[in-house]
Amino acid sequence: METSTLKKRKLRIATTSLTGCFGCHMSILDIDEKIIDLVELVEFSRSPLTDFKHAVDCDIGIIEGAVSNDENVEVLREFRRQCKTLIAIGACAVNGGIPAMRNRFSLSECLNESYLDGMGLENQGIPNDPELPRLLDNVHPVQDVVKIDYMLPGCPPSAEMIWQLLSDLIAGREPVFTQEQIRYD
Ligand code: SF4
Repeated sequence: METSTLKKRKLRIATTSLTGCFGCHMSILDIDEKIIDLVELVEFSRSPLTDFKHAVDCDIGIIEGAVSNDENVEVLREFRRQCKTLIAIGACAVNGGIPAMRNRFSLSECLNESYLDGMGLENQGIPNDPELPRLLDNVHPVQDVVKIDYMLPGCPPSAEMIWQLLSDLIAGREPVFTQEQIRYD
């Protein structure tokens, strides 16, 4: 392959939401008109923006959301296998965030409250269709399951920080954030 062809190759990015609310994905879209710059530089593999079911041979993988069920574990491991660089964005991915609030209770307590004993419920039973992902006993941040190369906290991280991280990685630069950018108080 010629050098010029190599230079022109677009980086391939995959994104997924595990146990998240898609707010971090909305923050990616909030880069506004820079999205035009982005699509000039990258192509998308698996992502809510595409219909691909799997991440395949990617340069960058972006993970939103915590790990709360066996399907999340499977998807996350696939991203680790298929993506050279893996980024966790948002509090849920980085430290479990809101989904991890259930860790204060046992799984059976959560299920009973949600489906059997909670106010206004008509005891329809706990869903047990074999097609449903199996819930883990606890919710985990993504780095409990696979190695993560970069973490961007925030709920959600700002579009500006996401753009900076992506544009640095695409340009082959090591991302550096100022103290001001990573303050959350
Ligand atoms: Fe949603 Fe916040 Fe979690 Fe992102 S970090 S998935 S915005 S709750």
